[in-house]
Amino acid sequence: MKITQIDCHVLLVTDYDADACSSAQDDLVVVIHTDEGITGVGETDTNPWIARACIKAQGTHCMGRGLEEMLIGEDPMQPEAIWTKLYSGSKMTGRRGAVICAMGAIDMALWDIRGKALNQPVYQLLGGAVKEDITPYASLLPTGNTLDDYRHSLVDKAIAAKNMGFRAAKIEVCIKGPYTHNALREGDDAMVDLVAACREAVGPDMIMMVDVAYCWSNAKEALRVLNRLEPYDIFFLETPLDIDDLDGYAYLQTHSPVRIAAGEWQNTHWEFLDLADRGKVDVLQPDVGRVGGFTEAKKVAQIAADRGRLIVPHCWKSGIGIAASAHLCAATSCCPFIEYLPAELSESCLRRELADDGLTMIDGRLALPKRPGLGITLNADAIERFNADARHATVCG
Ligand SMILES: [Mg+2]
Repeated sequence: MKITQIDCHVLLVTDYDADACSSAQDDLVVVIHTDEGITGVGETDTNPWIARACIKAQGTHCMGRGLEEMLIGEDPMQPEAIWTKLYSGSKMTGRRGAVICAMGAIDMALWDIRGKALNQPVYQLLGGAVKEDITPYASLLPTGNTLDDYRHSLVDKAIAAKNMGFRAAKIEVCIKGPYTHNALREGDDAMVDLVAACREAVGPDMIMMVDVAYCWSNAKEALRVLNRLEPYDIFFLETPLDIDDLDGYAYLQTHSPVRIAAGEWQNTHWEFLDLADRGKVDVLQPDVGRVGGFTEAKKVAQIAADRGRLIVPHCWKSGIGIAASAHLCAATSCCPFIEYLPAELSESCLRRELADDGLTMIDGRLALPKRPGLGITLNADAIERFNADARHATVCG
């Protein structure tokens, strides 16, 4: 089999809001075609115009090449060999950042093709299932332009997630710092109050995670609040510090009463080695697209397993990425949860409409995917409607 064509779809929701902190408003979907008629689909969570350029750009020398020109004619059944070729051939521009994110979408699509060609779900190709089902945690981003509205929305979504049967939920408490929602500028008291309100609303049995989105400027400031959050039984607290402050993360790992999670932005398993060994992070959060695809994500799973840590994949896009997380989780024993945006509670049309993830939740758990490849169904109509170049999209249903 040979790769014949790579389509890059840059998508943008119609109600795009630059003040929102959700990256589910845009997407790069990569569709790889082969001479045997099998196609594979992948997506990545970064600026989609830049990622597309990484794929489509021409190169001028042997370590400064564009990804597409290296892919045409290759055998898609060899995703790991292709990863090495792309990494080496783009090294001067790439190694990390957007090129790795673009490679992640490509790698996802190649494993999809391989699974379809072998009539096997991707997790079987990653070593097979090590669990009977997958536990998703509902990832909850509230709406609202004031703290009061934000609080109501968050509590309502937490209750809705519980009523939908989720066993676990993560609340996005993005009210201060660089990744704040709708320019909110609140203090630590408000943060503790939001966590307390959600815990009270869902009761003691639901597993609860908290994402504070890089809000504290140093580890001691973060620790003061982590100590105050201990009574609310938080499974992990995500990204308390700037992601380059690995020594700060290590300090928190030693002193915090709450488990620390990070890794949503990390590219390649090498960055996860730093996060695990220098940052000493308890819960590694590879995003299958951003880390460089399944080929890199499974190395991250091994890094966690070797050190007695956990992975909980990050995912904030459509059903494509969620399916990828599910396959990774199915084949990874140290992965207790996947991040899951419930379509019903998501503001993003892309999450709701772009793809059927092929996953069914029963009693708070997802059955192992059965279809070959990723098992997703892409909505061709949504690809058309959310095409960012054409900008003729009008309906967000
Ligand atoms: Mg996050």
